[in-house]
Amino acid sequence: MSPAVQYRQLPGEGLDAFIAGFRKAAGRDPFGTVFIVPTSNLAREVARRLGEQGAPFVSGAVTTLPGFARKVFDDHAASETPIPAAGTRFILARLLAAGDYPLLSGAGAVDELATLFSVLTMRKVDYPAALGEMQSAKSAEIARLLNAYLRFLDDRRLVDESTLLSRAVRLLAGSREIRTVFVYGLFRPMPLEQDLLLVLRESADEFHYSIPYAANPAVFADDGGWLHPDVVVAGDGHSALSGLFSRGPPRDCGGFIRVAERRDRVDEVRAIGQEVRDLITAGVRPGDIAVAFPDLDGAVPCIDEVFPDFAIPYTVSAGRPLSASPLVQALLLVLTVPAHGYRRSDVIGLATSPYLPGGRGCELDLLSREARIVAGPAAWEERLAALAAGLDEERARPDTPEAAVRRIAAKIASIEAARAGTRRLFADLATLEGTKTIPEHLAVYRSLLDAWQAPVMPGEGERDLLEGEAQDLAGFMGTLATLEELARLLPGEKVPLAEFASLLGLLVAGTRGGRRRNPRAVQVLGVREVQHLAVPYLFIGDLVEGAMPRLTTRLPFTTDAETRRLATRSKDDVLREERYHFTAALLAARFRVYLSFPAAEGATPLVRSGFLDAVRETFFPEAWGSDDFPDSTLAAARRAGALLARGEVPVEMPPGIAAGEAIRRLNVENYHRKGGYDSPYDGLLGGDPASIATLAERFGEGAVFSPTALETYADCPFRFYLERALGLASLPPADPDLTAQERGSLVHRVAYRFYSGWRRDGNDPVSEASYPEALRRILDAGREEADRFTFESPAWVADREHLLGSPAAGPGLLERFLRHETAMAASGLVPQAFEVSFGLPVSPGEVDPISNPDPVAVPLGDEILRLRGRVDRVDVLPDGRFAITDYKTGTSHPALKDILAGRALQLPLYIRAVETLTGMQGVAGTYYTLRRGEVRNRPVFWDKAMKDCFVCFPGSRQSGVEDVRALIENALGWVEEYLAGIRSGRFPPRSDAGPCPRYCDFATICRFDDLRLFNTEVTTDGTD
Ligand code: SF4
Repeated sequence: MSPAVQYRQLPGEGLDAFIAGFRKAAGRDPFGTVFIVPTSNLAREVARRLGEQGAPFVSGAVTTLPGFARKVFDDHAASETPIPAAGTRFILARLLAAGDYPLLSGAGAVDELATLFSVLTMRKVDYPAALGEMQSAKSAEIARLLNAYLRFLDDRRLVDESTLLSRAVRLLAGSREIRTVFVYGLFRPMPLEQDLLLVLRESADEFHYSIPYAANPAVFADDGGWLHPDVVVAGDGHSALSGLFSRGPPRDCGGFIRVAERRDRVDEVRAIGQEVRDLITAGVRPGDIAVAFPDLDGAVPCIDEVFPDFAIPYTVSAGRPLSASPLVQALLLVLTVPAHGYRRSDVIGLATSPYLPGGRGCELDLLSREARIVAGPAAWEERLAALAAGLDEERARPDTPEAAVRRIAAKIASIEAARAGTRRLFADLATLEGTKTIPEHLAVYRSLLDAWQAPVMPGEGERDLLEGEAQDLAGFMGTLATLEELARLLPGEKVPLAEFASLLGLLVAGTRGGRRRNPRAVQVLGVREVQHLAVPYLFIGDLVEGAMPRLTTRLPFTTDAETRRLATRSKDDVLREERYHFTAALLAARFRVYLSFPAAEGATPLVRSGFLDAVRETFFPEAWGSDDFPDSTLAAARRAGALLARGEVPVEMPPGIAAGEAIRRLNVENYHRKGGYDSPYDGLLGGDPASIATLAERFGEGAVFSPTALETYADCPFRFYLERALGLASLPPADPDLTAQERGSLVHRVAYRFYSGWRRDGNDPVSEASYPEALRRILDAGREEADRFTFESPAWVADREHLLGSPAAGPGLLERFLRHETAMAASGLVPQAFEVSFGLPVSPGEVDPISNPDPVAVPLGDEILRLRGRVDRVDVLPDGRFAITDYKTGTSHPALKDILAGRALQLPLYIRAVETLTGMQGVAGTYYTLRRGEVRNRPVFWDKAMKDCFVCFPGSRQSGVEDVRALIENALGWVEEYLAGIRSGRFPPRSDAGPCPRYCDFATICRFDDLRLFNTEVTTDGTD
């Protein structure tokens, strides 16, 4: 053993001398010389510098400690096989799948257990004995799993990445094959790593060990005493930076460090982008600039967004996680669909993926929502068939208009195409199902992708994007090969598809895609990778608490107290390590370092890193950055827009946008969004003759209107325009339970069936005497109607019980309805007609016999209003006068003031329609609330002269009116105004500042803005 020389040097200091020493030794003894560094990034950098110097060296001689252990193992161990990190996860997943470890299951368990086992091994923890009296059922189970895992490895003579180090220790002990060792920059090696270094120190002829060190215990606690060096050489270097965190005297850094606070993460990366651009413009080579983040994976999407906007060439040190690739997600979805029972969202994801052959995915999405499909291949078939059958019935009705027949036929055809498509798709996917060996699963999966010629790779597009996708695909195929390799560990063992899919997902989650390295581009890397590099210009972003320092000490599956007992790392150790990485990164900068932090993320304020405070207190750094981004294409477009908006002409327009078009768009957003509604963008189409002509065709004198359509215009003309003129509709909800609309129809149908049968059989209004029979009949009808639904969810069970009642829930809605009917019989009004429809197809047995397919013609000024609709119920007095009733199952309905203000038209228009149909006279309109918390028939208006009749109705005192005829005429007056508005193209958004109705689906595309209204007084016709 020759003397071990330890060099106590600042991070980065003396690296050149170490490289030179290695170069010399490797020239003399290429196979017996090794250079060990802490990161792969530094290993690559050292190799690059040696390459530049034209110094030959043996591959793998410049490496990390795990890399060196692997090389030793590969050179010696003939009877054991190393497994990658994915192998550990694979084995743990299989052991957990056996179900013998109930306390350790759950999402993320495999990853967390793999981390725990690695820490226990690397730190040589005697688990669970080290817990002492803190041992528990959980620690016993963890130990049992650890033993099973180690047994699994031993039985098959396998070695995982952590045990590889102990194997290397054993293989090197007493060996003389490594004769010259250079170790540079390792910060506080773990006990197992120290063992390997000590073995090298014992056996080598020359042992040079550079430890990052400065006389600052707040950062550098490891003086390398554990190595028992023979000679200690103190470094020559001195840097004020190494005294950071030591409460030394403040000093001026002369502009070397700069600090910026930015609004949010995007603004921060944009500021970095501009500063980088300025440096490049000033002559700095992009390769001399590095941008580091504490969480590189989290920052890369933002970099990918911003740096191209500044035309910055950049390269990221690590490939992105494969699981983040849309292409890989699509390929995994192929397995997820059958593995998770053909859930609607999965099938639609697969059918709409551009990477998989499919087509018509959007149509399938729509149809599957309408068919109320949740999951299950049988449900897809049955529910699509039922949807088609329902439509077929509608088509076959003699009263269905010809245009509707054609529309329905087309829809049935598309349902049939969707059924055929899903049948084919599911038949293909069914080949993946079942319990198979992993190679069998892989073979079927690959063969299905081959048959589909999937993934479909785009032929053209952005070069970087295409390259990235090709790398993702190669990475995914590599993962399949790794899984195949790992499957050899379990020959002949069969696993269900769900487990196969989960194993593959696990491997994908732990794999990164490839990346193209470009030393001439700006380097984007993790802040912990910067140590020991020499970076002329360094940016460190996202310096917020939680990111840097990240003070997580707790081991997975252990409490804080257990972690402390295991003595792995204390909070002080973690803080020191974080301080080290920060200090080492600062020391890597040669000319300037730019630090920054975002003040908020969305609406959440972020806490600036305490490290920045330490820098500010010690070095008085300058500020950097501005809000001007002259090199951003996006900012250039904004600037040009701002100039155009002020009426000035920009010197240059951003590429791809003509000034005229930009001005037009600016006007739409700036000019026409202010003040009263006055432009076509606000739905005022009066200035466009073509629109007026089209509106005249659609809504002119021959048009048929429903009260609901007119009420929509009354509430919001813009919504009427979107819904009725443009025919826009949002996607139906993918609701597996009864919708509000279906609940309403169910109640309507039961009420109709009961009363039409009751009256047809000659019964009088329900009385105490006839109540039992009436109850039996309405419950029978209720059960039959409820049985038409095939829901099985708990919500439907509750809905059904709420309708029909039960011993546990008490009387149902139908029973309470009949009770109320019995109480209201005193009014003298007799339920006479039910579901009276006009202007709609008449289906016998579903509407009242007096219904008429022709619209009702109601005189309206100089024209005739053609009205369609369906009146829920007409109650008649012995003298022929009548009241109409509308059933409401929702929570609110209009009041008399809404009718007078023209916002509610249904009751007056329906009275006029029934009067026109029957020649009788209407005297009242009522809303019958039928819902869980309330069953009550409340007159909204009634003829004051008929007090005796209506006084028995609850809450009716305030709603008597002197003249029902005048009320109806008033409503018709409003209709005249609305028709004029529709025909003249007046469709402004709502004019009141009140909230828009929650059910409006157009809020995201609407130009309604209550602030705009606040500043402008707008009349109801939309003008100010
Ligand atoms: S969001 Fe309001 S203003 Fe806009 S369409 Fe809907 S109801 Fe009308």
